[in-house]
Amino acid sequence: MEKMNRIYNFNPGPAALPLEVLLQGQQEFSEYGKHGMSIMEMSHRSKAVETLNGETQQLLAETLNLPAGYRILFMGGGASTQFALVPLNLMKAGKVGRYILSGSFSEKAYLEAQTVGAAAVLSSTKEHGWSRLPAVNDIRLGTDTAYVHMTTNNTIEGSQFQDFPATAPVPLIGDMTSDLLSRRIDLTKFSMFYAAAQKNLGPAGVTVAVIHEELLQECAERIPTIFKYGTYAQHDSLYNTPSVHSIYMMNLVLRWVKEQGGVEELEKRNIEKAKLIYEVMDTSGGFYSGMVEKPYRSMMNVTWRMMDAELEERFVKESQLHGFDGLAGHRSVGGLRASAYNAVPVQWCKALAEFMIDFQKRNG
Ligand SMILES: *Cc1c(COP(=O)(O)O)cnc(C)c1O
Repeated sequence: MEKMNRIYNFNPGPAALPLEVLLQGQQEFSEYGKHGMSIMEMSHRSKAVETLNGETQQLLAETLNLPAGYRILFMGGGASTQFALVPLNLMKAGKVGRYILSGSFSEKAYLEAQTVGAAAVLSSTKEHGWSRLPAVNDIRLGTDTAYVHMTTNNTIEGSQFQDFPATAPVPLIGDMTSDLLSRRIDLTKFSMFYAAAQKNLGPAGVTVAVIHEELLQECAERIPTIFKYGTYAQHDSLYNTPSVHSIYMMNLVLRWVKEQGGVEELEKRNIEKAKLIYEVMDTSGGFYSGMVEKPYRSMMNVTWRMMDAELEERFVKESQLHGFDGLAGHRSVGGLRASAYNAVPVQWCKALAEFMIDFQKRNG
């Protein structure tokens, strides 16, 4: 094989995939198993795709340690489509969908819900510039609440919830796009959670939605068939043509997760990885200053600022020369961001920490 030039990929999403997964995908790209064709060329009604679909759901349930009573759906349209589908399916006459706002994705979900029906803000830290998270341990809900929606990890701002509200019997819905499979989460608190694949699960194209059967029974009837969670559940996510290749890649990622020792082992590594970068920030004497207050820091997306935009720009440019990619902050907030999802090895974070120390020596 030709020598590879894979660089330190800290992109926020689409993001790094495990090299082993890419190589296996490459090996099977033109011939899947003994089928004499690519998985992309097969009917989604074929036995092979049906098996892949079922096996991938099974693997995900195992990897998540998913309690009984939930259905796994493979959908399209990314997390942004869920922003619309959640209210379409779950809003009820006389009831309000309530949103915990902790960053721009949660706000987008809220704004989208407003186009569908009655949505309200339950709590928000927007006035703090998203530098902290709303408290969730003392949430009071009226009987007029259809559901509560929250974003468990704020990809753009770099904050992450450690606690989740006890909302039962009101359903709690979680956008877990940027931290599903990265740590252990008490999933029983959630009646539904969803994640677009392109952060921790695989390539873009498939979105995982996990919904409790009880909530499934309560979904709206008078909405288009293709928007109903029930349609996906009834047809085992094969009602229409799914993103077969993305599901195949997710299958490979899930096997990889299992081989690594599962979510528990990845969580350990993710803590270690984030710590390497935060430690450099915290010992830099303010050269690198975190965008998020310490208790709310994310271990997936580490964000920081530097003295001025010019220095930040120099940091990004030099980092590229040293083989790093994806370190510029989101265009809406600026600054820097290192996204250290599951597929980013500890070694890359060590290299980044060293680069940061060296950059400060030369520019501090
Ligand atoms: C990336 C991301 C989204 C947007 O996902 P799309 O698939 O691009 O719609 C939404 N929420 C969170 C938390 C994300 O990280």
